[in-house]
Amino acid sequence: ASKEAGRGGYRFYTPDLNQRAMDRLNIENGLRRALDNEGELILEYQPQVELNGGRMVSAEALLRWKTPEGTVISPGRFIPIAEETGLIVPIGEKVLRNACATLARWRAAGLPLPRIAVNIAAPQFESRNFGDTVARALADYNVPPDRLELELTESVIVRDAESALREMARLKELGVSIALDDFGTGYSSLSYLSRMPIDLVKIDRAFVMRSTDDDNARTIVRSIVALSHALRHKVVAEGVETRAQLTQLRRAGCDYVQGFLLARPMSEAALTAWLSSEVTPAEALLGDKANEW
Ligand code: C2E
Ligand code: MG
Ligand code: MG
Ligand code: MG
Repeated sequence: ASKEAGRGGYRFYTPDLNQRAMDRLNIENGLRRALDNEGELILEYQPQVELNGGRMVSAEALLRWKTPEGTVISPGRFIPIAEETGLIVPIGEKVLRNACATLARWRAAGLPLPRIAVNIAAPQFESRNFGDTVARALADYNVPPDRLELELTESVIVRDAESALREMARLKELGVSIALDDFGTGYSSLSYLSRMPIDLVKIDRAFVMRSTDDDNARTIVRSIVALSHALRHKVVAEGVETRAQLTQLRRAGCDYVQGFLLARPMSEAALTAWLSSEVTPAEALLGDKANEW
């Protein structure tokens, strides 16, 4: 930063700011290229299993960006930029279609078909033809609508709750499932929670993490489960890493679990092998025999 620039009380230019602007521009340009470049934006899948028995009910699609230079950029880094630039709309459509293509392949192979959960960013949900985009992806790949799950966050109802509720109703009419992601970190009122046509509430990892040594976090987890069940929603806990957390979640009455303890996000090929295996690692951990301890 030059001293001159700071003299008026504002700094329009610092090397740090400049570096960040450059990073963003690089990511934005890279994403534009990646959209047309087969194999750069790929999906990994992380199983979501029944706490009781370990049967997989759903697999969350998680986007990975492998640049031609071989660097892997995490979604935490590029999704916010994709959201701000609007690139999340075409990227999200690609994710949706790739997830449906995976479902179609599993179906053709005669495998037991879990749901695939796709994360939907607020700008994508709010884009004009979102419902049509979902309907088209389902039709083009001939996927049973109830095999697709859309993960929305509370942020979608902040800007215009009434139109968000209308859009959710439209999606439910298509037959897809709706999950409320990262629950507990947003701002939605309880009144909206009761009015949203959702199937599933995902407890944010932060509460799961603290539930083993923080009484308040444990109380929050139990309350979310009780409230969700009272509203006839199922509950999944995300980011489960330890057996101690599993014990807390079992006591709280949580329905499903997802996290490194059960399985890491994996390639489609690896998950296909999971689906084909006699007893999955999660079933070994949570199955009837495992429950006896
Ligand atoms: P999310 O939807 O809450 O996804 C869960 C994140 O937690 C994933 O991070 C997953 O890899 C990670 N995770 C799962 N189990 C564990 C665990 O036991 N411990 C820990 N420490 N982490 C765990 P990831 O893949 O880096 O994705 C981060 C976020 O990026 C996602 O959070 C989601 O908000 C966003 N994202 C990922 N893929 C997409 C996408 O296709 N579209 C949109 N719009 N957002 C996406
Ligand atoms: Mg998610
Ligand atoms: Mg989540
Ligand atoms: Mg999360």
